[in-house]
Amino acid sequence: MASNIKRPNGTEDVLPKDIHKWYTVEKIARETAESFGFGEIRVPTFENTDLFLRSVGETTDVVQKEMYTVMAKETKFTLRPEGTAGTIRAMLQNGLLNEALPQRVFYITSCFRHERPQAGRLREFHQFGVEMAGSQSPCADAEVISLAKTILDRLGLKNIELYINSIGCPTCRAKYHEALRAFFDARKDELCDTCLGRLEKNPMRILDCKSPICSEIAKDAPVILDYLCDECRDHFEKLQKYLTKLGIEFKINPKIVRGLDYYTKTVFEFVTTEIGAQGTVCGGGRYDGLIEELGGQHTPALGFGMGIERLLIVMDKQECDYLTPKKCDIYFATMGDDALEKAMSLAKELRDYGYRAEYDVVGRGLKAQMKYANKIGAAFTVVLGDNEIAEGSAKLKEMESGKETPVRLDDKFTANFDSLYIDRMLDSLDDSATVKLFEEAAAAQAHEHGCSCGCCKEEE
Ligand code: ATP
Ligand code: MG
Repeated sequence: MASNIKRPNGTEDVLPKDIHKWYTVEKIARETAESFGFGEIRVPTFENTDLFLRSVGETTDVVQKEMYTVMAKETKFTLRPEGTAGTIRAMLQNGLLNEALPQRVFYITSCFRHERPQAGRLREFHQFGVEMAGSQSPCADAEVISLAKTILDRLGLKNIELYINSIGCPTCRAKYHEALRAFFDARKDELCDTCLGRLEKNPMRILDCKSPICSEIAKDAPVILDYLCDECRDHFEKLQKYLTKLGIEFKINPKIVRGLDYYTKTVFEFVTTEIGAQGTVCGGGRYDGLIEELGGQHTPALGFGMGIERLLIVMDKQECDYLTPKKCDIYFATMGDDALEKAMSLAKELRDYGYRAEYDVVGRGLKAQMKYANKIGAAFTVVLGDNEIAEGSAKLKEMESGKETPVRLDDKFTANFDSLYIDRMLDSLDDSATVKLFEEAAAAQAHEHGCSCGCCKEEE
């Protein structure tokens, strides 16, 4: 017998029972980004390989070891290892940078890196990311960091530290590279092969090497902050001033260089120590040279990427609140064809109203249908048989309490169910939760006004 095919190593399935967690992160990230003026962008999953060579950088781990590249006909394509390159390519190709600056975009997207899979390190993972193009002011850096911080706060995360650093511009970096070369050259026999190659081309990359020996040596390496030019130093100082003004706590960590080559000046990471080695939940920075490198006009820009799987690991651990998982609101157990047809039409009405309604589509007996209703956690059930159809009424059973309420099976069924449903919900809440619920309901109604639901029809 053929063996079952399993998912590839380093990938994950998200099941319906967990999807509310993803919805929570996506909703909060999306709404927060929109409140900062960012609009969503969606770009292809794969791009020309050259795009990543030119942006991420040929001496980075991502390019040297981690890309999924395929040769299709004559062209090399790569599954995106990160979100920035494709986003900037799209902004250039669609002329967004000729419009009002700064341009602010965000994305929620999968990324692919051939890394050694472990907790918080996957081969397909998901990022929420933002890019802001067209401002060289440190105020934009503070704005982008503030957006990341607001999202983390709204997700309810605690004990996350913000580390910032400046890795300077090409001018100050040239001097720094010389100092690094001299430092590592003295210990070059101990470096790993990859870093040996980096020594000439891009010695700063050695600081980001994950090998224990290289990282031990790197601990004593010269720090970039001592080599910043006046402009970069001023930028970094102003950023600190703005962050302080915004009430955002931070620590300077001169060791942060980030794993992608395109960064200039500000780099930052939000890190937690609560989930082991893979504690960086968000990383980002400024990349003033990238747009020009990709064929555009010189346009200073910056952004960040948040690893959604890592966020969820921390949220689970810290028992953060998620949106309520969706469960069946009402289940119709039916006997006979007339009852089934009645259930079909009532379920349609309830669904149009926004309820999650189900009835038997398998042809099971009554007992098995009730067992199924229990398994899916239906809040209410209604048994429909010949008697109920003949009398035009049935009993609506609230499953938790077992309480039964007679209901007419007429065109008021949905409205009656609605009021029972709301009563039940209010009974289960304390005062502050009730207020929150009303606010959410009012917002949802304002949003959906004009839809085909019963309440909008009545208002017309
Ligand atoms: P790390 O140092 O952990 O490898 P990185 O510097 O490679 O991270 P970025 O390229 O800046 O990370 O990506 C931004 C965020 O995406 C990271 O902070 C992390 O939360 C997440 N991330 C990166 N690589 C992975 C991965 N392989 N699996 C899961 N999440 C990841
Ligand atoms: Mg990495």
